[in-house]
Amino acid sequence: MIAPEYPGRCRLASRGRMKEGSLGRLASPDPSDPGAWPRSEHQRQCGVWGGEPPQTSFSAPAARLRRAAGFRTPALYSQKGSPSMTSSPLRTDVVVIGAGPVGLSAVFQCGMLRLRCHVVDALDGPGGQLTALYPEKPIYDIPGFAAIPAGELIERLLDQAQPFAPTYHFSQLVTGLERLEGTPALWRVTTNKGLVLEAAAVIVAAGAGAFGPNRPPLAHLEAFEGTSVFYSVSRREAFRGQRVVIAGGGDSAVDWALSLSEVAERVMVVHRRPKFRCAPESAARLEALAAEGRLDLVIPYQLKALEGAEGRLEAVVVADLDDQEKRLEAQVLLAFFGLATDLGAMAEWGLGIERFAVPVTQETCQTRLPGVYAIGDVATYPGKRKLILMGFAEAATAAHNAFADCRPGEALHFEHSTTSGVPRL
Ligand SMILES: Cc1cc2nc3c(=O)[nH]c(=O)nc-3n(C[C@H](O)[C@H](O)[C@H](O)COP(=O)(O)OP(=O)(O)OC[C@H]3O[C@@H](n4cnc5c(N)ncnc54)[C@H](O)[C@@H]3O)c2cc1C
Repeated sequence: MIAPEYPGRCRLASRGRMKEGSLGRLASPDPSDPGAWPRSEHQRQCGVWGGEPPQTSFSAPAARLRRAAGFRTPALYSQKGSPSMTSSPLRTDVVVIGAGPVGLSAVFQCGMLRLRCHVVDALDGPGGQLTALYPEKPIYDIPGFAAIPAGELIERLLDQAQPFAPTYHFSQLVTGLERLEGTPALWRVTTNKGLVLEAAAVIVAAGAGAFGPNRPPLAHLEAFEGTSVFYSVSRREAFRGQRVVIAGGGDSAVDWALSLSEVAERVMVVHRRPKFRCAPESAARLEALAAEGRLDLVIPYQLKALEGAEGRLEAVVVADLDDQEKRLEAQVLLAFFGLATDLGAMAEWGLGIERFAVPVTQETCQTRLPGVYAIGDVATYPGKRKLILMGFAEAATAAHNAFADCRPGEALHFEHSTTSGVPRL
C-alpha cells in the first residue's frame, strides 16, 4: 500500500465574514475525459452538475496509484461558478444545503427512499472540509475502513449517491429560505447567483458555514492568488523543486513545512513569534531540520509585500518588529492563518441558531421549522459530537423524516438495503 501524504492539521480558527470563492482552486477537468462534469455548456455556465456524474474505478491499480499520489478524479475537479443569473424555480423533493460528507450522505439516504435532491454548495466542488482542508489526510474512524484518505471518502460518497442522479450547484451561496404556503407547502431556496429551488423538504448540512481562509493584508494579493499564493495544499508534488515561503505558526504551517521540506528546493517558515503553536513533537522536528540546514526559520518576522509580475511570485518581503526588511526569493507563498467561517444569511432564516449551530430534535433532526432538517457539524442537540460518523446517522434520520414532507399520506415501509437493493429513480 502506498502511504498517504500528511498535510497539516487545519483548524477552523476564527469566525468572521467569508470571502466567497477564495479557497485555493483545484485543476480543471480534463476536457478529453467524457466523464467530466458538467455535461453541457449551459450547465457549465450555470455552475450546475447533474445527470451523469463521472465514473470512478476503485479497482484499477492505476487509479489507486493516481489517487495515492494526489491526482484527482474528475469528480473532485473544480469549476468556476456561474455569473449572476436569475432562473425560474426548479422543483425537487429535497434541497440539500452543503456538499460536505454529511450532505452527500443525505443525498444517498434520500435516494434510497426515492427522493430526488438538488445540492447547493458555496465551494467550487464537493467534499466540504475534507476536500478543502485535508484531502490527503487519512481518517481512521469511518466504520469499515482502517484508514481512508479524506478525498477518497468523498469520491466514494459521490459514487454511492450517483445512481440517484442528484443535481449539484457549486459556487453558489444559499442566501434565502422562505416558506411558500399551499398544498403541499413548499420551501423556496435562493442563492446569491439567482438560482431558485423549490422543495417539500430542506436538509441543511452546512458544517461550520461557508468558509474561506484568513488572507494576509498584502497589496496586490489577488493578483497572485491561485497561481503563486495558496491557502491549502491539495498536492504536495506541485511544489517539487520550488522555493516555498510558508507563513503561520500553527499545525498547518508546521506540518506542511515538514512535508514540503522533502520535495521543495527550499522551505522558509515565516512566523511572527519565536514559538510555534503546534504539536510539540512537530515543533521539535521543525527545529531539528532547521538546525541541520534543511529549511529556514524566519522568526520573528511578518509578511510585508509580494514581488513579481503577472501572477508569478519572485520574492516575499518580510519585516521584523523594528521594520527591518528581508527579501526571500520564492515562487510560492503558502499562508496558513486559519479560516474564517460564517453561517451568514442562515441567521435570518428563523432556525434559532445558538452558538454557531442549529438546534434540532435528535429523534428527527428537524429544526424548529417544519420540513427543514439540520445534520452534521451545523446541527446541535444534547450529546452531539462533531464526527462524520454521527453526521451519517443524522442523514438517515433526516431523510426518513423528510419522506413524510415529500410524500404526504404515503406510508414509508422500512426495508433494509439488502432487501430493497438500490432503487431506480
Ligand atoms: C483537519 C481536520 C481533521 C478532521 N478529522 C476528522 C476525523 O478524523 N474524523 C471525523 O469524524 N471528523 C474529522 N473532522 C471533522 C469533519 O471534517 C467534520 O465533522 C465534517 O466535515 C462535517 O461534515 P459536514 O458535511 O457536516 O460539514 P462540512 O464538511 O463543513 O461541509 C459543509 C459544506 O456546506 C457548505 N455551506 C455552508 N453554508 C453554505 C451556504 N449558505 N450555501 C451553500 N453552501 C454552504 C460549505 O461550503 C461546505 O462545503 C476533521 C476536521 C478537520 C478540520
